[in-house]
Amino acid sequence: MRRSTIIKWLCTTGVALVATAGAAQPALPLVDAAVGGVTAKVTTWRRDIHQHPELGNHEKRTGALVAEHLRKLGLDEVRTGIAHTGVVGILRGKKPGGVIALRADMDALPIKEATGLPFASTVTVDVDGKPTPVMHACGHDAHTAMLMGAAEVLAGMRDRIAGTVVFVFQPAEEGGPPGQVSGARLMLKEGAFKGVKPDAIFGLHVEPGTAGQIQVRPGPLLSSASDILIDLTGRQTHGGRPWEGTDLVNLSADIVKSLATIASRQVNVFEFPNVVSIGSLQAGNRMNILPGTATLRGTIRTFDLTRRDRLKALIRTSVDGLAKTYGAEAKVNFEDVALVTGSDPKLLDTILPALRSAATAGVDTNTLLRGAAEDFSFFEAEIPGVYYILGSTPAGAPKDAVPTNHSDKFDIDERVLPVGVKAHVLSALAFLDSRAAK
Ligand SMILES: [Zn+2]
Ligand SMILES: [Zn+2]
Repeated sequence: MRRSTIIKWLCTTGVALVATAGAAQPALPLVDAAVGGVTAKVTTWRRDIHQHPELGNHEKRTGALVAEHLRKLGLDEVRTGIAHTGVVGILRGKKPGGVIALRADMDALPIKEATGLPFASTVTVDVDGKPTPVMHACGHDAHTAMLMGAAEVLAGMRDRIAGTVVFVFQPAEEGGPPGQVSGARLMLKEGAFKGVKPDAIFGLHVEPGTAGQIQVRPGPLLSSASDILIDLTGRQTHGGRPWEGTDLVNLSADIVKSLATIASRQVNVFEFPNVVSIGSLQAGNRMNILPGTATLRGTIRTFDLTRRDRLKALIRTSVDGLAKTYGAEAKVNFEDVALVTGSDPKLLDTILPALRSAATAGVDTNTLLRGAAEDFSFFEAEIPGVYYILGSTPAGAPKDAVPTNHSDKFDIDERVLPVGVKAHVLSALAFLDSRAAK
């Protein structure tokens, strides 16, 4: 049996890093001034991108805006069109050293915006012939703008940089159209880091929480996510004569109930938290027809890939057994949407002082695990990383009902924009300095 992947994940840091906790912050006053100098621009970019949201793999305008900015900054290389619309900017410092990647995602969601902001989106696009409203409801507009700002600050500090900074602007974090893989995976596949393999990668996400507070933890933070795809086939019959067919409606109900006990009763819940949810059940369209097909769709969330695989096996066994009882045919498939996202503990130690300097409301290093998932995990499967949350609840938001990410009313406190810029800049410098000091 494989060792727990959570342990493995914590230990496969790739490079031995020098912890610099407590070390003097690099060039803090210089960074403060430079961040102050770009904040107005970052806010303008955020609003502009917010007003012109684009769905995954369609971030043409956003990608062009980013590429133009990076070229203007005189970066050594600007790679475009990676994974459809992704952009990679490479900044070589004046001194030799390691390679650090900073990542932002650029895609929006198919949601009709209801924030009432003066720069709210009114964009509607055609998706398979259906008019579809689009909104930056996950804060990726802010992520893109903050990394553009960080690129400007770091480009002005070349003399000070020991190594290389790679700016990664990725498409389709929320997933592309059906059948297309997410942006991070495709960027890796298309050689986004050809010739500049990062030694580490850092990413952040805005989320409701105390504005300016950074939340992070060593090890896992966000769960893995695997789609559950169950297709049932049987013999269609009259609702008044169920014995002449296969009752897929009852079978579906039994499957839902059976799957609900897997995560709670059949695995050790004290070892790893996990959730199995069925979110979609489609069977039949009339009161007196028992349908010949039914589909169930759901998700597995957990913090260990061995556990994830165990849950898949238990789901398969349960569905197959129940289908056999009913005389139906079941096809069970899974699609891994994200691996576990979190922070390499040693790497986090290295940049924690930088994060503390950037956060205006402190750093919480003991934040709770989240059942949300991120395709940043695919970068982290190849490169040691740190992933942190930037609290961004707008001032005056109703305390107990702050609109969450993916809500049509989701918004951020723009005062966190310079916090994110500074966190990017200081964490990159702290990492490169720690490499140079080796
Ligand atoms: Zn999202
Ligand atoms: Zn997001």
